[in-house]
Amino acid sequence: MQSKRESADRTLDCPKCWVAMDKEELEVLGPNVVIDVCPKCGGIWLDHGELKKLLKDRKLSDYLTEHIGTQSKSQLVCPRCGWLMDIETAEDVDVDVCLNCGGVWLDYGELEKLREISQVGFKGDKFAKDIERWEEMTQKGRQSALSGLFRRLSRR
Ligand SMILES: [Zn+2]
Ligand SMILES: [Zn+2]
Repeated sequence: MQSKRESADRTLDCPKCWVAMDKEELEVLGPNVVIDVCPKCGGIWLDHGELKKLLKDRKLSDYLTEHIGTQSKSQLVCPRCGWLMDIETAEDVDVDVCLNCGGVWLDYGELEKLREISQVGFKGDKFAKDIERWEEMTQKGRQSALSGLFRRLSRR
C-alpha cells in the first residue's frame, strides 16, 4: 500500500486517450493545487477536494462529488484508483466522478464552464438528484411507489 503522498505524485494516464498526463500547478488561495492535464485531449483530472479549491464554491463542488450513489453511468475508469465512475451534471456540464476516491474528470473546457456556473450562482438541481435517487430505488424494485414521480419525469 502506497502512502497518500506517493500515490498523488504518480503519473496518471488519461482515461480517454491512455497517454501520460502532465502535472500542472495552479495557484489558489492556500497551498497550490497540482492537477493532471492530458496533453492530447486537454482533459483535467482533479483528486478529491481539488475541485472545491479551484472553484471556491463548496455548493457546486459538493453537489458534483457528494452523495453520488452507486450507479456507474460513465464509460471511463478512474485514472487514480481504477474504479468505476459516474456522470454528474451541473446545468449543462457533465463531469465524471469516481465512485471510490471521489476524483473528478473534466473534459477540455469544462472547468471554465463550471466557473461560469459558479459565478452566476449555482443553487443545485434537486430535481436531478431526485432522478438519481429514483433510479437507485428502481434498481431495488420499488417502481410502483414512485410511479407518480416517474410521470413527472417523463413529461420533462
Ligand atoms: Zn486525453
Ligand atoms: Zn478513483
